[in-house]
Amino acid sequence: MRRSWFSIITVAVLLGLLVLLAALQYKWLGQISDREREHLHTRLNADTKRFAEDFNREIQNAYFNFQLPSKSWREKNWVEFAKRYEFWKEKTEYDALITDFYFVELGAEEKLSRYNKEKNAFEPARWNAELDALKPRFAGDSFAPIAEEIPALLMPVHDEHEGIKRILARSENPIPRPMDLKKYGVLIVRLDADVIKNEILPALARKYFSGSDGANYELAVSNKTGEPVFETQKLSASDASAKLFDLSPDTFTFFSNKEALSSIKSERKQMVFSQLETKVNPADAKEKGQTQVELKVLEGDTKPRIRMFESGETPGAWTLNVQHTDGSLDQFIANTRRKNLAISFGILSLLAVSVVLIFLSAQRAKLLAQRQMDFVSSVSHEFRTPLAVIYSAGENLADGVANEQEKVSRYGGLIKGEGKKLSSMVEQILDFAGANSGKRKFDFRQTNVGKVGEAAIAECRPMIDEKGFELETEIDENLPLISADEKALTQAVQNLIANAVKYGDGAKWLHVSARNGAGAIKIAVEDKGIGIKKNELGKIFEPFYRSKAVVDEQIHGNGLGLSLVKQIVEAHGGKITVESELGKGSRFTIEIPF
Ligand code: ADP
Repeated sequence: MRRSWFSIITVAVLLGLLVLLAALQYKWLGQISDREREHLHTRLNADTKRFAEDFNREIQNAYFNFQLPSKSWREKNWVEFAKRYEFWKEKTEYDALITDFYFVELGAEEKLSRYNKEKNAFEPARWNAELDALKPRFAGDSFAPIAEEIPALLMPVHDEHEGIKRILARSENPIPRPMDLKKYGVLIVRLDADVIKNEILPALARKYFSGSDGANYELAVSNKTGEPVFETQKLSASDASAKLFDLSPDTFTFFSNKEALSSIKSERKQMVFSQLETKVNPADAKEKGQTQVELKVLEGDTKPRIRMFESGETPGAWTLNVQHTDGSLDQFIANTRRKNLAISFGILSLLAVSVVLIFLSAQRAKLLAQRQMDFVSSVSHEFRTPLAVIYSAGENLADGVANEQEKVSRYGGLIKGEGKKLSSMVEQILDFAGANSGKRKFDFRQTNVGKVGEAAIAECRPMIDEKGFELETEIDENLPLISADEKALTQAVQNLIANAVKYGDGAKWLHVSARNGAGAIKIAVEDKGIGIKKNELGKIFEPFYRSKAVVDEQIHGNGLGLSLVKQIVEAHGGKITVESELGKGSRFTIEIPF
């Protein structure tokens, strides 16, 4: 008893620990997910930003590299331009990005020339519809440097002054002052949309979002009107975004083309940088405006002048959107967390179930061991009585106590009877062992169940008569033949009759019937004896099980009879059922389908 309490407490403590572990696991996984979310968001934002920077750098290089002083344009000195072009081709990975250069000389008549790459010179060219559409952009202060619809980059060449840098930025408070510069012309750098869509964007997508860390992303780049330019898949939401075609100063290395500054004295150069730093705070301006900044460094000026004016041009004509393949990054984190929770709770539940199963099977093993011990003692007890009878009868014969013929045959009869009991007990134990090890073979033949019932009754007749039982039989004639092992089935019915006699004390009445009942033969053995408790009904077919009442009453038995009956009936594809009421009697029914 103490031992079983100890096991129950141990199991309860183990289960409690598992619950505690599950709670801790839940909390930890939550914390891990939060950290992972933060980490992935930071990483995604960084990757998206670097993607945009790489892209914008490519565009900026194609833009700033070709700034020449207006003198070169005016004097049609193309040597410098050719040098710049060669320099750019050397540096870029995508030398097919620029398809053409056009120069528009502004004036009463807008003269157009096109760069001939073979001859390294600009030659007069004819206007086409694409370039015509750009004309309205050439005039006025508000100068938009990106014509994303072509796409092309537009660069003003100012007339009066050398060393003018034009940059774009955003500022909270634009200073609305008119420009005092005159444009000499505009350089149009025409880009190849196919190179951007089919080479640059896919290469950057591979570089930053190839899904190496298990997180997979889909990308889409849309133009100003929101139409897709490039997409790995249609996006429904966005986890991170960045502007492409962004020429604002926080995204490029200012004066990457340092040669353009050669005409400005070094201290002025410094001033340019510091002015830029103080006047234009990109972080500040990022959210607020879309203002362009024009920075002029004029020869002879002691300070560079900074002018700001509003522009209709949004920095970054295209937008890159990134979305996680699971719908969103948060969704992905939630899914991963759910999976992790399911796995760890699964493992913990498995552990809990194992603990309970181990406990139950240990209890079962204990119970079985107990029953086997009971079995050994009851079998020894069963053997003792017949052996004692045989022993004393034999002793009397040996001592010559019984020398009359009549006495000798009585002793002989006693020895025979007890010997038969012993051998049937041994037989039952062997049958049980054989059936359990799967060695018992049944000999199925077409069998008359009526005959089986009668044979079983005949076998039990001496016992029935000895105990003074009233026997009623109801065996249908014309029962169909069934495929059965006659000997085994007779043994099963015999066991039921023997039990009815053994536990039928009281009314001493016994009823054996065999009927044809809807597709099955039903053999029933009924008594009006001690009956069986409801909670024991499920256990009586287990091997070695004997109800407490019969053990207390010291009714002989080994607890194997009904388990043998069940094995035999199941081997015939049938089933055995019991109905019983304590103190009123029991009815066992064997059903064998035919
Ligand atoms: P044994 O009779 O040797 O104990 P069984 O397997 O034949 O073993 O029966 C198992 C238990 O079922 C018995 O110990 C008894 O408690 C109960 N039992 C079986 N038949 C009857 C019956 N006809 N009436 C009351 N109890 C029965």
